[in-house]
Amino acid sequence: MKIASVIVDVPAMQTDKLFDYLVPEKWENTILPGMRVIVPFGPRKIQGFVTALKADSEVEHLRAIIEPQDLVPVLNGELLALGDWLAEETLCLKISAYQVMLPAAMKAKYEKSIRRLDHQANPLLDEMFGNKEEISWKEAEARNILPSLQKEVKNGSAEVVYAVKSKANKKMVRMISSPLSLDELNEKIGTIPGNAVKQKQLLQFFLVHPGAAVPAPELAKTADASSAAIKALIEKGWLREKRKELYRDPYEHSTFQKSDPHVLTTDQKQAIQPVLSSIRENRSETFLLYGVTGSGKTEIYLQSIQAVLNEGKEAIVLVPEISLTPQMVHRFKSRFGKDVAVLHSGLSIGEKYDEWRKIIRKEVKVVVGARSAIFAPFENIGMIIIDEEHENSYKQEDNPRYHARDVAIFRSKIHHCPVILGSATPSLESFARAQKNVYTLLRMGKRMNNQPLPDVSIVDMREELRTGNRSMFSTALFEKLQDRLEKKQQTVLLLNKRGYSSFVMCRDCGYVMQCPNCDISLTYHRHTNEMKCHYCGYQTFVPQVCPECGSSHIRYFGTGTQKVEEELGKLLPHARVIRMDVDTTSRKGSHERLLKSFANGEADILLGTQMIAKGLDFPNITLVGVLNADTMLHLPDFRASEKTFQLLTQVSGRAGRHELAGEVVVQTYTPEHYSIQLAGDQDYESFYRQEMMMRKVGAYPPFYYLALITVSHENVMKTVAAAEKIARFVQSRVSGQSVILGPAACPVPRIKNRYRYQCLIKYKHEPKLKETLTTLLEHFQHQIASEGLSISIDVNPNRMM
Ligand code: ADP
Ligand code: ZN
Ligand code: ZN
Repeated sequence: MKIASVIVDVPAMQTDKLFDYLVPEKWENTILPGMRVIVPFGPRKIQGFVTALKADSEVEHLRAIIEPQDLVPVLNGELLALGDWLAEETLCLKISAYQVMLPAAMKAKYEKSIRRLDHQANPLLDEMFGNKEEISWKEAEARNILPSLQKEVKNGSAEVVYAVKSKANKKMVRMISSPLSLDELNEKIGTIPGNAVKQKQLLQFFLVHPGAAVPAPELAKTADASSAAIKALIEKGWLREKRKELYRDPYEHSTFQKSDPHVLTTDQKQAIQPVLSSIRENRSETFLLYGVTGSGKTEIYLQSIQAVLNEGKEAIVLVPEISLTPQMVHRFKSRFGKDVAVLHSGLSIGEKYDEWRKIIRKEVKVVVGARSAIFAPFENIGMIIIDEEHENSYKQEDNPRYHARDVAIFRSKIHHCPVILGSATPSLESFARAQKNVYTLLRMGKRMNNQPLPDVSIVDMREELRTGNRSMFSTALFEKLQDRLEKKQQTVLLLNKRGYSSFVMCRDCGYVMQCPNCDISLTYHRHTNEMKCHYCGYQTFVPQVCPECGSSHIRYFGTGTQKVEEELGKLLPHARVIRMDVDTTSRKGSHERLLKSFANGEADILLGTQMIAKGLDFPNITLVGVLNADTMLHLPDFRASEKTFQLLTQVSGRAGRHELAGEVVVQTYTPEHYSIQLAGDQDYESFYRQEMMMRKVGAYPPFYYLALITVSHENVMKTVAAAEKIARFVQSRVSGQSVILGPAACPVPRIKNRYRYQCLIKYKHEPKLKETLTTLLEHFQHQIASEGLSISIDVNPNRMM
């Protein structure tokens, strides 16, 4: 008798444990750990993951598994272990940890079927599939042939497919080839009657292209033949048809020219050596590749990956979502061609699923993707790279609240392989670890072109105002803009949107429109003339008169990108401007299109938000202007200075990357702030020292660890009461070394009509903290389940809002 341990898909703490189920005899050889199954749960049937099989159970009267959901495991042993670890580290439910590792297409609601892949004559397959290409899971189940199908899936003759609704249905092509030898072809051509010219032409095609396999429509076109002629020849057995899936390749229209490795510079050689040894010696080691922008880090990634591929292993490369631009993808595709799968949020559910299956089927060896690509189901990982490791987007902001860096290090230990964290402005945490030799520091201080880093001037906007310049462009920036226009060179203008937005205010009474559900002012969107809430999506039209006092003197404040664009239009009417922000890039592919046209020189100025700060590598950019450097400094977040420094350094790095020297103008109202001064000097290490002092004084990371508990409820009194209870609960259980801040209202105190309070735990060493927090959640279970209280715990939070 076999027993399966199952994690069930019920998102609650009480059910976050293993349940034992009997494996029915007919499934005994089918069900394996890592498969999803349907099990009875109370009166319901639900999905679960089998985590292990065993011989007996302490529980009496076990119920039996109803049926399997998969024929091959969807999570291998490593990923199951990773899921358990994730659940423990991030305090999430095991079920969410398992689910986050799978593509969305595999959610239970999608219909499944089994498709035949092998079309050679095979009585077993013929029997199961008849003359059909695909049979539904239900039919296979009813006919009791799932166990035999499982064998075919294992040996690659069939596969389970998930019918993703909408446009994501699989495209199949009929590939035509000929089984005949050249002599046979010649002979058959001779036997074809004179009136069947088309058939002759078809066979002649294969005479000229021996061994070719061509999509049927293409063949018909090239050989100038009809599909009827093709069919006739297939019936005679002179041509053969095999169906092949056409992947929904988002890059199908791009061409990638093969790129060869560069000869490494001395700096690069020094940096790559330790990585190569670690690959050779199968050593799990974390490297921090700290290299200024343009120092050739990407080339280091490419050549390390080559070393890994030479060993027959696989590599995962994470890049921030925003820099998954064609430029970056191009560099990997042109080096490794079809061995690369790309995973990013712009793909449809079906496209993501396709890329995932290429990994499972071992058709690719390199994955380049955003955060969740860290779960790529490779089985022989030789290297994990995280580019721009300091980026916020590597931390997932809802359950499971994992950081890709931690997952990378976990997997590297299992696979005995190195991790490279790359950045020009490493996170303080990582640099501190490198200082303590927890990570191995690799430095590259020079740019490839030996160009000095661009010259940065900091402009005090208060001075500009005093001298009567009320425009959003300082005199210095404006003159340089004109100069670049004359020289036909390109400019990047950054409008720092974070912590800043355009809002509508009444000039008579000062009324600012607020979201009715959230305590935050609405953002004005010019092109639709609407007001939007960025937290809950609420939107409304701009009022003609002030709702408060009736005045018609209502106007919008703030410098949105649209407003900058307008002003540019007035001041420099001949300048061609491309604007990139959430509004112009929301449609699929638009991001790429805009960048491409800028690269082609179709515009003089690229104006945009944070999304333009990274990854651009265009030779003709010689000026970067930052319109408002300090808006982020005032956010209630202890990382505000770090984020400001990083952004300014990143965007400055866009200028002068090739032959032409670059220049940067930073406009600010707080020119004396160290993060702006030191970004101006491009002096990361001084910034690091200064900021470490601030963190030490404030008892923040990397000196202390943090855990943030956020409580929310529709009723403000209930929220406060629960938050206070929680603070007391934690206080009574942690050591005297730890500090508990709060409860206090969150920086955004209400979202979607729920009030929000938070407690922050700062600690150095609390071995029992996770246990305490788990107990806390259990303690409040009742209120969570029946009173609509919500408690979220973020261990090592990235965002303090
Ligand atoms: P980073 O990733 O550090 O910003 P890149 O890898 O983009 O730097 O390198 C900057 C430029 O230098 C790129 O255009 C790249 O193709 C080029 N480059 C990198 N390494 C070499 C090399 N060894 N020889 C010549 N050119 C190189
Ligand atoms: Zn008013
Ligand atoms: Zn809102």
